[in-house]
Amino acid sequence: MAKIAINIATGSLQQEEMIVGIDLGTTNSLISIIHPESKRPIVLKEYDGAALVPSIVHFGQAGNITVGDDAKKYLIAEPENTIFSVKRLMGKSYNDVQQQTNFFTYKIIDDNSESLVKIQVGEKFYSPVELSSFILKELKIRAEHILKTTVTKVVITVPAYFNDAQRQATRDAGKLAGLDVLRIVNEPTAASLAYGLGLNKDETKTIAVYDLGGGTFDISILRITSGIFEVLSTNGNTYLGGDDFDASIASFIMEKIGVSNDALNQNKSLAQEIRLKAEEAKIELSYNNEFEGVVDGKVLLITKNEFEQLATPLIAETIQCCKNALTDANLTIADIDEVIMVGGSTRVPLVKKTVSEFFNKTVHDTLNPDEVVAMGAAVQADILAGNNKDFLLLDITPLSLGIETMGGLMDVLIPRNSKVPSKAARQYTTQKDGQGSMRISVFQGERDLIKDNRKLAEFNLTGIPGMPAGLPKVEVSFLVNADGILVVNAKELRSGVEQSVEVRPQYGLTDEEVEKMLLDSITHAKSDIQTRALVEAQTEATQIIDTTNLFIQKNNDLLTDNELADTNDAINTLQKLIVNGNKDNIQAAIEKLNEISRPYAERLMDSAISKAMKGKNILE
Ligand code: ADP
Ligand code: MG
Repeated sequence: MAKIAINIATGSLQQEEMIVGIDLGTTNSLISIIHPESKRPIVLKEYDGAALVPSIVHFGQAGNITVGDDAKKYLIAEPENTIFSVKRLMGKSYNDVQQQTNFFTYKIIDDNSESLVKIQVGEKFYSPVELSSFILKELKIRAEHILKTTVTKVVITVPAYFNDAQRQATRDAGKLAGLDVLRIVNEPTAASLAYGLGLNKDETKTIAVYDLGGGTFDISILRITSGIFEVLSTNGNTYLGGDDFDASIASFIMEKIGVSNDALNQNKSLAQEIRLKAEEAKIELSYNNEFEGVVDGKVLLITKNEFEQLATPLIAETIQCCKNALTDANLTIADIDEVIMVGGSTRVPLVKKTVSEFFNKTVHDTLNPDEVVAMGAAVQADILAGNNKDFLLLDITPLSLGIETMGGLMDVLIPRNSKVPSKAARQYTTQKDGQGSMRISVFQGERDLIKDNRKLAEFNLTGIPGMPAGLPKVEVSFLVNADGILVVNAKELRSGVEQSVEVRPQYGLTDEEVEKMLLDSITHAKSDIQTRALVEAQTEATQIIDTTNLFIQKNNDLLTDNELADTNDAINTLQKLIVNGNKDNIQAAIEKLNEISRPYAERLMDSAISKAMKGKNILE
């Protein structure tokens, strides 16, 4: 079923926007969506087939900013204007990174070591958040180009070890790029979701996610219980990845073709050539036993065996991290149920073999390792969009929850698609003087009138002390806990009397019924908006008639006969319109009644005030 939304302004139907998943990587970034027909995550690709967008930003002389492959070309030639690995700087102060500034070829500012780092390019300063937002903006543009629709709602992944500041920085980058970041998801969690792990609510599993990317290595141990992911431990090395494989091969190439470090420092284009050739060789050797190429006019041959010797110490280091992670989680290899391979560098056969041998298990490697995190983000996005029925009940509220207010209207406290657990509260008051109890009726659904929604519960809050209408403050709060149970509490704040009920909103409701309720709300959207306006006008009319009647009862002898007659006429007209009028003529009649009563109401008010003043004088 295609998803449809209602434009509230026009009441017309429109195609609902897609929520996309974004892997904002240190080396590469990419976007994924759930394919509307296959329901499987797919990575968005440009016409040239490229899915990965290198996470690189280049600042041109003319002030132009390029992102991705076009920026990557300048890495060696214009290091000071070409920003890479900005993810390493997210949410960091200069103190945090001063040990590593050698790694960055661009200028990191240290004017105030406690505050967040800034990057200087030419005369300008940029925060990591701004730089990341350039990458996200580029991804947004690409997605919109490919999907032919606007993209604003996203899920972005971050490493499991990211702290709150780093997560917030990622959110801010999204906001700056014009995106609405619905959720930040841990990369290993996303990878698990991409493989369908965690989607079955009944299973408990312990998962090791081995992520060897371009510049970083992360091992995360997760436990999934009832679809909830818990990070048991993380370990890794933030300066170990495919780049180090490239660097070893580059040294090897230099040795083979006889180029010294000094010569390389003098010749930036040769340095660029060797670096690119090294990566090319590495990738080729994931599929073939030999690599043959030409560097600096010389023929070069590298065998798989040679590369594996270079890679072995680096891979050994990742295994040591895996051991540490297991120890920290208080687990042994036997406790691990699944191992997932993530990151472009796990394409290296020796990496796969070593990891599989260490965990003594066949590893999950059927999905592209550099796409799997983005794919999982798309799965999460789909869950948030309410499309993934298996997950529907666990993660979000599929239908809005609210209570009945005057005129049988639905007053929503927790809108549909709210994250679970979720909390909301609102204050209400009494309609009648001395009203001692208040009925709280809880409903579920998207329609404006409660009669069209599903009733979940009803109770009376009793023991409200006698007070004039409008004075009691009854706070109704809704809490949907992680198990999907709704706790409704009503409390009169002046007296403290309170009462609550528990309900299971999804109890006995099938997915088809949820779907039908949503569809109904779409079909009836326009008429619902009109009905709500009418009911609101009727309610207001009833209230004004009640207060006017009360007023003339009390002050009968102070009104002229004309005033009384006019008022009664206006009340009668309004009363008839409540039954068979429309929103507009009811409102006009309310206004008419107001006009009639205003002069005498003011007159009486003035006299009441002057009486009070006189009283005061006597007392003096
Ligand atoms: P990150 O998560 O750090 O952004 P990726 O997961 O995209 O990075 O991994 C990028 C790294 O993967 C690069 O070092 C790249 O050279 C490497 N890589 C990509 N494909 C292969 C391959 N077939 N064999 C070996 N390494 C590869
Ligand atoms: Mg990654």
